[in-house]
Amino acid sequence: MTKYLDVATIRQDFPLLTAPFHGKRLVYLDSAVSGQVPLPAIERMHHYEAYEHTNVHRGVSTLSQEATDSYEGAREKVRALLNAPSSKQVIWTRGTTESINLVAQAWGRQNVKEGDEILLSAMEHHANIVPWQLLAQEKGAKIKVIPMNDRGELILEDLDGLLTERTKIVGVTQVSNVLGTINPVKEIIAKAHAKGIPVLVDGAQGVPHMPVDVQDLDCDFYVFSGHKLSGPTGIGVLYGRKELLEAMPPWHGGGSMILSVTWEKTVFMGIPAKLEAGTPAITQAIGLGAAIDYLKGLSFDRIAAHEHALLQYATDRLKAIEGLRIIGEAANKASVISFVLEGIHPHDIGSILDHEGIVVRAGHHCAQPVMQHFQVPATTRASLAYYNDEADVDALVVGIQKVKDIFG
Ligand code: PMP
Repeated sequence: MTKYLDVATIRQDFPLLTAPFHGKRLVYLDSAVSGQVPLPAIERMHHYEAYEHTNVHRGVSTLSQEATDSYEGAREKVRALLNAPSSKQVIWTRGTTESINLVAQAWGRQNVKEGDEILLSAMEHHANIVPWQLLAQEKGAKIKVIPMNDRGELILEDLDGLLTERTKIVGVTQVSNVLGTINPVKEIIAKAHAKGIPVLVDGAQGVPHMPVDVQDLDCDFYVFSGHKLSGPTGIGVLYGRKELLEAMPPWHGGGSMILSVTWEKTVFMGIPAKLEAGTPAITQAIGLGAAIDYLKGLSFDRIAAHEHALLQYATDRLKAIEGLRIIGEAANKASVISFVLEGIHPHDIGSILDHEGIVVRAGHHCAQPVMQHFQVPATTRASLAYYNDEADVDALVVGIQKVKDIFG
């Protein structure tokens, strides 16, 4: 047990982690795919649905006003989490994917023209590639890539040359969902800003693992998903610099985002409403707010320290297994470990581990260019969270040994 968190007590807040699974204790090592939701967040959502629910920003009823307070209160919790200057700069979306599509479609369509360049890193999730490719195809723009080395670190010496007068935006992940690499986003942002280029940071795997300060990072857009931060699915966030959000045209049109509509013309509300058409995911926003409270109660610094110690422990134990190769050995890593086992397909590893009650992810992790770089079809990935401990890692090691025994 690390000295930072009392995992045994924390686990009491996660029924799934204490209930039997395939007749065994569940070892959940797949938090990069989705984090488990603690009971206080589940109970908050249950209470809202059971006793408080109606629509928000609708009318004068006490019920609607209270629902609006809870919903807007959750936005304020996200603002505080990111240290955003104003909660108006926190736009609710369905998740990271939708946040990036919103930027690509609303900001991108207005600002990217034929011949322009969009600079992405070599370790992006498809969510930070495909929306930009769609935009590039529509506009006749070009995607360029910041390369990485074989440890899974971006080659920053190449960055200056890649930032040209044609570069319209840089998109970079704070933490790679495959390699665990923590990218020096602050440095990348400073270099891009020196040439007047805005930067979007994909924080899907960043915000669950470290304190985030968008003002300190000085990023122009920061996006993440609620479900990777121990919140529910269906809710996510786009933080944006005020001037950029205000200048962006709406992407979706409909109710809740207009000041007036006539057959001739619609006048839109300001941010955030302008970018949030229709009835939002109220329960999910409130649930995410409760999840943030829960994590704050544990302390983001302690979570980061715990996960770092566990990462070190897991790396040492996995490295000692003969025939196992870790994919991604950056100097600065979050608690995500991808590996391959000589001669055994990751899907077979994942299936056998599953029978042992160990949940990992096997596949390309929606980052096929990373697989192409390392010339592997897939990897097995164990991702560690604040509710994991050394016993989970030990179970993984025993499970891998079993896989090796089966494949002889
Ligand atoms: N970016 C990164 C780095 C991710 O890990 C993920 C989820 N695996 C996403 C984007 C997409 O998140 P979502 O599916 O929640 O939109």
